[in-house]
Amino acid sequence: MSAMSAASPLHNRNIGFIGAGAMASAIIKGLLASGISPGRISASDPWEPARAKAKALGLNVTGNAEVAIVSEIIVVAVKPDVVASALAPLELRGKLVVSIAAGVPLMAIEIAAGNGARCVRTMPNTPCLVGEAAVGVARGTTATDADVATAMALFRGVVVEVPEKQLNAVTAVSGSGPAYIFLLIEALADGGVKAGLPRATALKLAAQTVKGAAAMQLATGTHPGQLKDQVCSPGGTTIAGVAALEENGFRHAAISAVTAAKARADEMS
Ligand code: NAD
Repeated sequence: MSAMSAASPLHNRNIGFIGAGAMASAIIKGLLASGISPGRISASDPWEPARAKAKALGLNVTGNAEVAIVSEIIVVAVKPDVVASALAPLELRGKLVVSIAAGVPLMAIEIAAGNGARCVRTMPNTPCLVGEAAVGVARGTTATDADVATAMALFRGVVVEVPEKQLNAVTAVSGSGPAYIFLLIEALADGGVKAGLPRATALKLAAQTVKGAAAMQLATGTHPGQLKDQVCSPGGTTIAGVAALEENGFRHAAISAVTAAKARADEMS
């Protein structure tokens, strides 16, 4: 286990989780892996299996009110329809409240948290569960730069700050995005099977290809069009595949997916 860097905004601070379900556990595991002592983390959840899991991680498992009292940073990790009722009874003056609830606006979080609480709204995605989240973060009316840095430090992966009005677009790209990529992986594997590969082999190669290409783009910052050009030799196999994708409207399909998901997020908010 690595030691927590003294430079981290989470260093020596008490972090509490209201709700200890799937997303909370994923974030907590990341915090523990980064060297934060379990004694600094408390969690509350009415569901016994979630409490047992949190206890097994060595956390201080208690009630919502106690979490609010002992923690400077409070992560709200309940389902969206529970956020207001979970926060409203708590004394959160002077606390940083970080919501991960999809679709719950900052204004609703701030009203439920009450005067004197500083709020940050985040939109993580499911790869959070394997330490590879893509997260959008938006600050509330009184949250400071330091609060935003603190909220960002809760996640492993790529975290960007955006104005709240862009969070539905973040939802459409990276919140919903894993599903698009799972479709792509499945389809590539189907193509591999059609071309004669065993299913398990095709699936592994397809998934690693997505992971490797993404890692290359993130590591180099090179425009993806240029990276694509580097793989396409004249008259070769790759340009034949690229041409087939273009004939079938691949890029248009991806853009339409994001546009449709954004429209749906707008309708729901
Ligand atoms: P989950 O059901 O696994 O966890 C929620 C937990 O909250 C449950 O264990 C439940 O018992 C507990 N809970 C219910 N009422 C409570 C209360 N009053 N006080 C304290 N705890 C209470 O759900 P999840 O998948 O971890 O999602 C949590 C939040 O994360 C949701 O708001 C969701 O919108 C958001 N989110 C999830 C994903 C995802 O991919 N799963 C992505 C982005 C955002």
